[in-house]
Amino acid sequence: MNTQTMEPGFRDSVDQMFNRAVGLMDLSPGLEEKIRVCNATYTVRFGVRLRGKIQTFTGYRSVHSEHMEPVKGGIRYSMGVDQQEVEALAALMTYKCALVEAPFGGSKGGLCIDPREWDEHELELITRRFAYELIKRDLINPSQNVPAPDMGTGEREMAWIADQYKRMHTTDINGNACVTGKPLNAGGIAGRVEATGRGVQYALRAFFRDEEGVKKSGMSGDLDGKRIIVQGLGNVGYHAAKFLSEEDGSVITGVIERDGALFNPDGIDVEKVREWIAKHGGIAGYADRHYLENGAKILEEECDILIPAALEGVINLQNADRIKAALIIEAANGPVTAGADEILRDKNVVIIPDMYANAGGVTVSYFEWVKNLSHIRFGRMGRRQEESRHQLLITELERLSKDKDLGWSLSPDFKDKYLRGAGELELVRSGLDDTMRIAYQSMADVWHGRDDVTDLRTAAYLVAIGKVAASYRAKGL
Ligand code: GLU
Repeated sequence: MNTQTMEPGFRDSVDQMFNRAVGLMDLSPGLEEKIRVCNATYTVRFGVRLRGKIQTFTGYRSVHSEHMEPVKGGIRYSMGVDQQEVEALAALMTYKCALVEAPFGGSKGGLCIDPREWDEHELELITRRFAYELIKRDLINPSQNVPAPDMGTGEREMAWIADQYKRMHTTDINGNACVTGKPLNAGGIAGRVEATGRGVQYALRAFFRDEEGVKKSGMSGDLDGKRIIVQGLGNVGYHAAKFLSEEDGSVITGVIERDGALFNPDGIDVEKVREWIAKHGGIAGYADRHYLENGAKILEEECDILIPAALEGVINLQNADRIKAALIIEAANGPVTAGADEILRDKNVVIIPDMYANAGGVTVSYFEWVKNLSHIRFGRMGRRQEESRHQLLITELERLSKDKDLGWSLSPDFKDKYLRGAGELELVRSGLDDTMRIAYQSMADVWHGRDDVTDLRTAAYLVAIGKVAASYRAKGL
């Protein structure tokens, strides 16, 4: 409980949302409890000799549900990491994987560390040591527990973890599948870095295809011209904002970062801001006339869509009432507390919930894991075959036009696009798009189809819990 705001902590907030949904289901109390509880949380404290002395670190790996194995979920590096945060995030992984039909149970890990305080070599030593502690207990393992990047970690850390696993399991031919989110040249997959942001874009496109949903939000039309405020220009927020502004005609009117915010109703150039942050470590100093030190205030600005893509709990009892967005899409995990969720529901703000909105990451992780187990790049077998069949058709059309003197000519742009067979990136994006559309539809069917379900989050929980329950039942539980 946060005593200042009288709000429950993150773990309780997730449970409250779960309970709300489960109250509308007909599960036996035993099964309900089995799904809700976190199976196990492992805490490790280890020392690494750095800067002339032994530094002690605390890390966690929590396994929420093993109804399917391996269990899956990222490893976070942040000073906010503690047992309840990791458990809440592990629970969300269970529901997320179920909702998007990634065949995994839910897990999450974290290390209580500020990664900006350590240099690369030190981080490598710390990461390898943490990985060693988890690997030796099978808490990192291709068939049991497969981590991935999360806040504060990325491709680099995943490459160290994979390498550490392979050093400890020299004959495991599937070693690369022990972790996802690796760099492309170390067993990764094309499109994993952009995946979560890309998933947010696909989720929004799916929403705007749903006329009934759009009507419930009080908006109309599509993404073109919609004003968007993004909180957090890290990997997820940056890619989402970039794709939405470059490909869907949306206007990014606000960007909120750790050290303040930018607000410009005419639109912000996401690419330039990202470059500025990379160089200066924050947004202060970029376009002063649009800069505001109190970044949180911008969450409450007029806009169509709000994308919290940073921390949990940023929309809470303190500010929920003042949020003006018609639609919130939770690119982060848990950005809206259970209390704020209730206030926003009363205000008819539509919330696309985290377990769906940011599922692009784990979806592409699933593709990477399958790629690692099959030891072949997607598209390698079929691409040229596809191209030669398309060439056959083009040649025939051109022959017909010539023989019959029809005067047809195919536009070079069409020919170029049609002839190009799908490579790994195209296949990954297609698989992700398909996943996001199907999962959206499953939530929307419940949202629009049941009188007792008035929001997408409850619909998402109902679908996800239903799937986890079915899989426990199939096991005879
Ligand atoms: N950390 C990401 C999440 O919260 C990705 C997890 C994964 O790819 O396993 O969904």
